Amino acid sequence: MIIVMGPGVREEEIQLVVDKLKKAGLGVHLSVGQFRTIVGAIGEEKAVREMSLEALPFVEKVLPVTQPFKLVSREFKDDNSVFQLTNCVLGGEEVILMAGPCAVESEEQLLETALSVRAAGAQVLRGGAFKPRTSPYSFQGLEEEGLKLLARVRDKTGLPVVTEVMDQHTVGLVAEYADIVQIGARNMQNFYLLRELGRLDKPILLKRGLSATVEEWLMAAEYIMSGGNHRVILCERGIRTFETYTRNTLDLSSVPVVKHLSHLPVIVDPSHGTGNWRWVPAMSRAAVAAGADGVMVEVHPRPQEALCDGAQSLTPENFAGLAEELRKIAVAGGRFLRRVG
Ligand code: PEP
Ligand code: MN
Repeated sequence: MIIVMGPGVREEEIQLVVDKLKKAGLGVHLSVGQFRTIVGAIGEEKAVREMSLEALPFVEKVLPVTQPFKLVSREFKDDNSVFQLTNCVLGGEEVILMAGPCAVESEEQLLETALSVRAAGAQVLRGGAFKPRTSPYSFQGLEEEGLKLLARVRDKTGLPVVTEVMDQHTVGLVAEYADIVQIGARNMQNFYLLRELGRLDKPILLKRGLSATVEEWLMAAEYIMSGGNHRVILCERGIRTFETYTRNTLDLSSVPVVKHLSHLPVIVDPSHGTGNWRWVPAMSRAAVAAGADGVMVEVHPRPQEALCDGAQSLTPENFAGLAEELRKIAVAGGRFLRRVG
């Protein structure tokens, strides 16, 4: 249930409602917006109804959240969630570019990529240190050494870094180095891991599972938010369909759907969504046109030498060209994309 407080509500009045809910054993989440305050009551609906909170003059209305996801839903929070990163704001007017190699391979490779994507306008550096590879014989990532390289390149370039955590045991380690913690598609429904991330004070980039419905994806976000971490960034990265020409089928229709259902920022990963660098620019343009808050693109200085996902990686030159195109589309949609990251 959500309790919408009336305009001009005083702090002690909010506290009174919070205390009543807590006394009844309900979880409470407070959302103080620019225009109104909403108290989210987590637990038995019946217990909230029986309180007749609407009788209080400073309570405007008490609403059930009709969606199975509560904290994630627009019913819970009407205005878009906006997250401040070290150098930019995600979910606002600016379209954010996240770019970098699939995997961290060396300091030289990472720094070269970071400098080139920053010059093209990227605000966030991506790079995997723990890689979820289909084959156990493929490169598995540099692990902790990769995290250290990410931190070093972040310090040299000022770009915040996003990197994947694969299991509960390494959450603390990854969080020590990452600015944004990524949950890969394969782990979207790893509920123990999601719970762990709910306790983290870091934004989480939650990728859509390989065969997850929009509802399952949003329920995964609800796991993180219900644990207390409300900074969840949703990332559409394509789903499995019967089509094999592309690596996945990039479901861009999920962007307006999720924007309608949820207040959380949504970004699109056209690299894993298509699996081929040739289709990345078109799908990136489409993602921005569809209203995505950003795109995450794999870039490698020499894709033919990449240890992971070279076929879908853009060269720095191609990425710079793409950023230029996206800038025009962002502006056409009433947004903007900066020139240098
Ligand atoms: C990645 O971003 O490196 C990755 C492994 O993506 P996904 O989880 O979407 O496959
Ligand atoms: Mn990859």
